[in-house]
Amino acid sequence: MQKLSDGELVHLVTADEKEYRLTLKAGSSFKFSGETLLHDDLIGQNDGVQVSLSRGTRFFVFRPTLSQYTLFMPRGAQILYPKDIALITMWADIYPGATVLEAGVGSGALTLALLRAVGEKGQVISYEIREDFANRAIKNIKEYLNESEFGRLLVRPNDIYDGILEQEVDRIVLDLPEPHRVVPHAAQKLRSGGIFLSFLPTVPQVEKVVDALRNESKFDFIETFETLLRPWNIDGRSVRPQLRMVAHSGFLTVARRVSRIEINAQDKL
Ligand code: SAH
Repeated sequence: MQKLSDGELVHLVTADEKEYRLTLKAGSSFKFSGETLLHDDLIGQNDGVQVSLSRGTRFFVFRPTLSQYTLFMPRGAQILYPKDIALITMWADIYPGATVLEAGVGSGALTLALLRAVGEKGQVISYEIREDFANRAIKNIKEYLNESEFGRLLVRPNDIYDGILEQEVDRIVLDLPEPHRVVPHAAQKLRSGGIFLSFLPTVPQVEKVVDALRNESKFDFIETFETLLRPWNIDGRSVRPQLRMVAHSGFLTVARRVSRIEINAQDKL
């Protein structure tokens, strides 16, 4: 296992799950609950190591998972949450080597997951009209990924409602207010067999995108769903759902791009 090294980003997590973000720097120190923590004491240790300070403060040190990192990174636009990102990557079937078109980049939360899923041979092209958001997102993404991973991202300052420049993309993933306006472009630029996915917070938006997909003969197998993540309390005899949860984030609508040219595949015997 690779030890924690100088320059690495780590999260300090206390027993009551308070979390702090820190970039390790040889010779530096960090004030933690009124005590001083020397970065040098963490450099060279294992990921997941427990540390206790002289006055008894204890915490764990982790390389942040993608979900930890995402929830902590500075935001321009509202991010997609890990539960939705997890579903999006499966339902949009983001695979290694895929070319994925995304809009907009927002704070880069979904983009990070897409980049990880497309792997070394894939590409993510993200359209974003707000330059300030794009810059924020690029900063966030660069901090988590290495150079070669980051190299697979292209951020375009384009309005996706005006059109898509790329041809034959494998997947289109949208997190913006009017995805129905992208449907005609998607029908032209998504390859046959490709997948269109949009995330939307309200029902009227979903109705519009589903209508647009139904009116476009190049799309079929349209489905819409939402997912509720309900955490549970498992503590002695108190085994029950937690009293509070995020009750709503948004709806996913997924459609498949098809070619309606029938081929004659009759038995030739
Ligand atoms: N999925 C992102 C959040 C996206 S928020 C994340 O997880 O961090 C929606 C983004 O879409 C905003 O940044 C907004 O500026 C951008 N946007 C809205 N309309 C757009 C359009 N027509 N073309 C490109 N980007 C657009």
